[in-house]
Amino acid sequence: MLWPMKNKFFLLTFCLFTLSVFSQNRTYVKDDKLTPREHNVDMQHLLLDVSFEPKIGKVIGNVALTFTPLLSRVDSLYLDAPNIIIHHILMDEKEIKFSQNKKGITLFFTKSLSWENSYTVTIDYHCFPRKGIYFIGWNDEQNLSRKQIWTQGQGIDNRHWIPHYDEMNDKLITELIVHFDKDYKVLSNGNLIDKTEEGDLTKWHYKITSPHPSYLIMLGIGEYDILEKTAESGTPLNLYYYPDWESRVSSAYRLSKEMFDYLEREIDVPYPWESYAQIPVQDFMYGAMENTTATLFGDFYFVDSVSFNDINYVYVNAHELAHQWFGDCITSRTSSHHWLQESFATYYGYMVEKEFFGKNYFDNTRRKAKDKSLKEALKNDNPVACSFAGGVRKYPKGAMVLDMLKYVVGEDEYRKAIKHYLEKHAYENVDSE
Ligand SMILES: [Zn+2]
Repeated sequence: MLWPMKNKFFLLTFCLFTLSVFSQNRTYVKDDKLTPREHNVDMQHLLLDVSFEPKIGKVIGNVALTFTPLLSRVDSLYLDAPNIIIHHILMDEKEIKFSQNKKGITLFFTKSLSWENSYTVTIDYHCFPRKGIYFIGWNDEQNLSRKQIWTQGQGIDNRHWIPHYDEMNDKLITELIVHFDKDYKVLSNGNLIDKTEEGDLTKWHYKITSPHPSYLIMLGIGEYDILEKTAESGTPLNLYYYPDWESRVSSAYRLSKEMFDYLEREIDVPYPWESYAQIPVQDFMYGAMENTTATLFGDFYFVDSVSFNDINYVYVNAHELAHQWFGDCITSRTSSHHWLQESFATYYGYMVEKEFFGKNYFDNTRRKAKDKSLKEALKNDNPVACSFAGGVRKYPKGAMVLDMLKYVVGEDEYRKAIKHYLEKHAYENVDSE
């Protein structure tokens, strides 16, 4: 994720909490976030059927969670679900008991679950979330605002509209069925496997084919047209735009296909998902977010050819695309290892700039990154790989560490190591020793 402010990128800090009673420490600083959150089941599949009442910010959902116990016997299950109003919870079509506090719900199974089997619970609920999902412009009486619904799950905000185990250390297949006004487009992760008219509504059914962490579940709803392109490898690229901003498409999405082809060649591992979409939204609080197969970005980047010289989407476009490998396909186990996502996305963003803007441009970026890193070192000696490293270390400094590594071991060896790393840990969690 990128968060631009006064031409600097600031990192969103994450508040992960852990149920563990011990902590591991593999760096020279004490970092409580090194220990992943414990969980007693392995989530495998999430199917959400959802509709909305946008004027009152209401989410009406039914989520089916399929999981396998990680212990020989499991008799209860805790799910993150702050301020979610539960109607009922079913397993095998029978209601099961649950208790609820401000942060979540605990399900109590009538019989202990065994780790030889997988189980599905379905939760019927509604909520009025203030985080995770945002309703834009639905009560604008002057009709100046666009009307949109969009989500921002990172770090732990999707729990505010979907009850589930909301942590980066468990990956699952996700599937969203959305019922919405037929005049609007709906985008979510993965393939659109069904689109059906339901009177004044359209039912959109999206499914991703490989597991990803739930903070990358996304929705983007609004009035859009789509520019469809195809990468050299055959991957469909769907570039969403506001119909009244069609004249800006070529400048806003400049180099989108070219950088996709370049990164597949440079990383030497095929793009790990079935398709890639990008969607601008109004009032986004960060720069962009690398949701799996569907990057969402602030429409302030959607500029015409004149404004392109002052602000443009090229670097952010490359950074979020690189995250599809580094962050989405392989994901940091906890926030302590977040540099494995941000430093890599930053470095490959710089590499895209080098490819298309030249070595001088890259050298200037590298000089600025090094200056920032040295300045940061005057404040403290925190490592890149810790949860409180700060934005400068996780973004430009970590990128420079990778550049230095490439210089030391040589380009061929560096590229081989990255390929091995990505292939070995594809669709898994990673950490740094
Ligand atoms: Zn990022």
